[in-house]
Amino acid sequence: MKFPVYMDNNSTTQVDEEVFNAMKPWFLEKYGNASSKDHSFGWEADAAIEYSRKLIGSLINAEGSEIIFTSGATESINLAHWGIAETYSHRGKKIITSAIEHNAVIESLKALTRKGFEVIVLDVNNEGFIDIDELKRHLDENTLLVSIMTANNEIGIINDVKVIGDICAEKNILFHTDATQAIGKIPFDVKVLNTDLVSFSGHKFYAPKGVGGLYINKSKKIQLSPRSYGGGQEHGIRSGTLNVPGIVGIGKAAEICKVKMESESAKIEELRNKLFKGINEKLEDVKINGSMKRRLPNNLSLCFRYVKAENIIMEMRDIAISTGAACTSASLKPNHVLKAIGLTDEEVKSSIRIGLGRFNTEEEIEYAINRIVETIHKLRSYSPEYIINHKILLN
Ligand SMILES: *Cc1c(COP(=O)(O)O)cnc(C)c1O
Repeated sequence: MKFPVYMDNNSTTQVDEEVFNAMKPWFLEKYGNASSKDHSFGWEADAAIEYSRKLIGSLINAEGSEIIFTSGATESINLAHWGIAETYSHRGKKIITSAIEHNAVIESLKALTRKGFEVIVLDVNNEGFIDIDELKRHLDENTLLVSIMTANNEIGIINDVKVIGDICAEKNILFHTDATQAIGKIPFDVKVLNTDLVSFSGHKFYAPKGVGGLYINKSKKIQLSPRSYGGGQEHGIRSGTLNVPGIVGIGKAAEICKVKMESESAKIEELRNKLFKGINEKLEDVKINGSMKRRLPNNLSLCFRYVKAENIIMEMRDIAISTGAACTSASLKPNHVLKAIGLTDEEVKSSIRIGLGRFNTEEEIEYAINRIVETIHKLRSYSPEYIINHKILLN
């Protein structure tokens, strides 16, 4: 076993060695600019980019020409929101989202409210799901866009994207979904799900950080206004020299996921369930945050009563888990996802997130069960509330 054991795959993943090997020549030998039209360095880079588009497309049932490459999901999300808002503001000013979106969605839309857009934030129930009837009630002639995530990065719940997509399509309202946590882990078909814009990121499925993409439904003839201007790459929507090695990497990662996803996710889910069962059997007062029925195979969000997550993390340096999404923990704000599903401040502070991945082993799961149980027992033995509630006699 390698230490620390990495169990924070909802935050980022290791680059798969196969992905790394596919990328390597594009740094050292084939370093052309995909926009260079005058020599073979440029041509081969361009061909590699187009091949990568096809590989991504093939994973999500889109055409290569419907994919544009970006620096990651944050950029894709902002491009989708602002691109739609600027081009179609004459259609309406209302945008609908949910309370448990990633900060990239929340902050991008918050910024749009300062430009005169009205953003409706749908509450979620204690499982983490929006009320579809409430969504329907909000859709009107003034509604420009619905932006609701496919799977949540904190509690792993999976929305019924098809239902949302069908409703939006029926009402002729554009639908964006942040599918960053879903793509590569669960089946995702842009046509079946009736999506118009889909954001994703390489580093969540074993490609490097700094490369991602946006699917744009061709049949809708969507015109996104650019966020940056320059050389006119990516249909003029996203100018800037393309990250050839990164794009080769995300293509390779998608190709691997397409082949492996089904069996890999089943295996990861089995490990996840084993971990949950192991912890649950040996510890009392453990609560799972979010629905266990519609949930990513790799995710656990657990609340350990009587202990603070930060103390668990400090006691257990040999296992990399998190107190919350990496992106939000930098800001020290209370976790908006856990608050939205109804946790008390106390429960939020007692919650940790575990994200398993491709490289976790059975042995690591057994190790983690023992370490977590041992750590929680130890921390609880110092907790006055625990001692009082369990009437443990000192001496
Ligand atoms: C990681 C993540 C993002 C941000 O992706 P980056 O590529 O790091 O910008 C957005 N949404 C979700 C759901 C994520 O998990």
